[in-house]
Amino acid sequence: MGGYKNRILRVNLTERTLSEEPLSKDLIQDYIGGVGFGVKLLYDGLKPGIDPMGKENQLIFVAGPLAGTNAQAFGRWKVFFKSPLTGGYCKSSGGGHFAAELKFAGFDVIIIEGAADSPVYLWAHDGRYELRDATYLWGLDCDDTHTLIREELKDSRIRIACIGPAGERGVKYAGIFSDRRVAARGGGGTVMGAKNLKAIAVRGNERVDAADQETFRAAVREQVQVYKSHPTFAFFPEQGTQAPEFQNLLDSFPTRNFREGFLPQWEKIDGSEFTKLRVRNTACSSCMIHCGNITKIGTGRYSGAWSEGPEYESIWAFTGTIALPDIGLTIAADKLCDDLGLDTLSTGGSIGFAYELYERGIITKQDTGGLELTYGNGEPVLGLIRQIAYREGFGDLLAEGVREAARRIGKGAEQYAMHVKGLELAGYDPRAAKAHGLNMITANNGPDHSSGYASQEIFGVPIPREVDRFAVDGKGDLTKFNQDITAMLMTGIACGFTISNGELTPELYGKLVSAVTGVRDFADPAYLWQVGERIFNLERMFNVREGFGRKDDAFPARLTNEPLPAGSAAGQVFEEEILLADYYQARGWDSDGRPLPETLNRLGLSSVVADLSLQKR
Ligand code: SF4
Repeated sequence: MGGYKNRILRVNLTERTLSEEPLSKDLIQDYIGGVGFGVKLLYDGLKPGIDPMGKENQLIFVAGPLAGTNAQAFGRWKVFFKSPLTGGYCKSSGGGHFAAELKFAGFDVIIIEGAADSPVYLWAHDGRYELRDATYLWGLDCDDTHTLIREELKDSRIRIACIGPAGERGVKYAGIFSDRRVAARGGGGTVMGAKNLKAIAVRGNERVDAADQETFRAAVREQVQVYKSHPTFAFFPEQGTQAPEFQNLLDSFPTRNFREGFLPQWEKIDGSEFTKLRVRNTACSSCMIHCGNITKIGTGRYSGAWSEGPEYESIWAFTGTIALPDIGLTIAADKLCDDLGLDTLSTGGSIGFAYELYERGIITKQDTGGLELTYGNGEPVLGLIRQIAYREGFGDLLAEGVREAARRIGKGAEQYAMHVKGLELAGYDPRAAKAHGLNMITANNGPDHSSGYASQEIFGVPIPREVDRFAVDGKGDLTKFNQDITAMLMTGIACGFTISNGELTPELYGKLVSAVTGVRDFADPAYLWQVGERIFNLERMFNVREGFGRKDDAFPARLTNEPLPAGSAAGQVFEEEILLADYYQARGWDSDGRPLPETLNRLGLSSVVADLSLQKR
């Protein structure tokens, strides 16, 4: 069989034991790889009700079957764990070169269990592996961690996934960083810190061969032609994903903690402004799209600040949240989060939440340690990011995430905590794009925009059909389509940009993944659709057995009760009850959002039907 290395590396940090196991035939046949492997292994590996910060939680790193080949834009990796923010299922995605190098080192999957009694890092290379002392790395930022591990192991080509000070200190939304690409969402870095695992370093010389070389070469040639002729091929290297104009023109750019959908003077942070600051492009392994832009500020207060990106989401996180379109601050804040190991979305969301509380007098200068959190004032932002990462001063409270911070503050702060399932919202207003909102409210991670991006509403992609973004009818079925196709293509850990733009179809993916693995069934789009739906339902079942249901598929009341005040989306609210009822029906779930037994049986998930009766919360 091609594509796979057929090796899972299992590391028990408590016992300091490392062992190998093969991929099972059933795992491959039923789940293909990527997100399929991750959810199945996590579901089987964790008992419901465990403490996400405890030894029983796992971190499962997965590279897809096409990583390490010359198929385009499949070089990303995913990590799976129970989230300390939501208490539920979480998958987080990173780019760069880590996934390909993990395959070259000889592994498809690394499962981390237990917790070490002192800081360690894992070194996996050419089929061998060991735990090494990381005491000297503890406290270092992500850049320095990369540098020192490469120096210690005397190889600059080693790829590393590590945490920064935020993960070490238990900030609830710490990410895992590989060079300048990050698996940011849901607190994977927090879990890694709780395990005393500073980094995973990988390097190898093994090849990733296709089972059917000739067919695979033809499929890659077809893929290259499709991607080259797609309109976004020219756009991405030019502007990266730095495109706040899309959301502002749709009045879907959350501003002042989701009170408005439009940031005045957004042109100052438009993609064309970032293009002026571009130093060079970067790309993940084997990607012709080159969406990464290194940008650097040459003048002014933030002169010298640079970052890879920031991407759209991070731009929003440090502009709309504080009502200030300052490109220099955005770049500096993005880089600081990367250095210290923070998810930009949750960091910016937490800061924006604090700004609203300050404006309303729920918190004062006494609470903030003298910081003046008034909209349009960017002065406190970099200091607050440091406080959050090191859990100092007011930042210690924000490090808990908005749900828990609001609970501790009281005084009505809960109504201004913009989250779903405990995870801070992404930079889209669901009132202005209903299927996009429906995905955010039902995504198994919390409001993860990339689990089922409604490109029909955001970019006008007419697949499977053109839609009215404000319409309610038909959005349940459309959201199911978006989520299932994403889960299907994430079995190969395809880059999300190739999914949301419609370049990567099930037919094209089927050709690539069947040729690389040699499994004929994978060439059949109907088979792939069923795998995608199976994965999404198993993710859902992970949360169901933790006690999640309809109550957790809920936006803050602001989004369901307060109409957007102006612009093309003026008057719009998110019609939660109607949209969810339609979605649950389309999914074959009951009115509490739990898969029906017949749905699970139809998807080959009869083994988890009994878990419907478990209620742990
Ligand atoms: S499009 Fe960008 S994020 Fe996606 S694989 Fe290519 S370089 Fe990486």
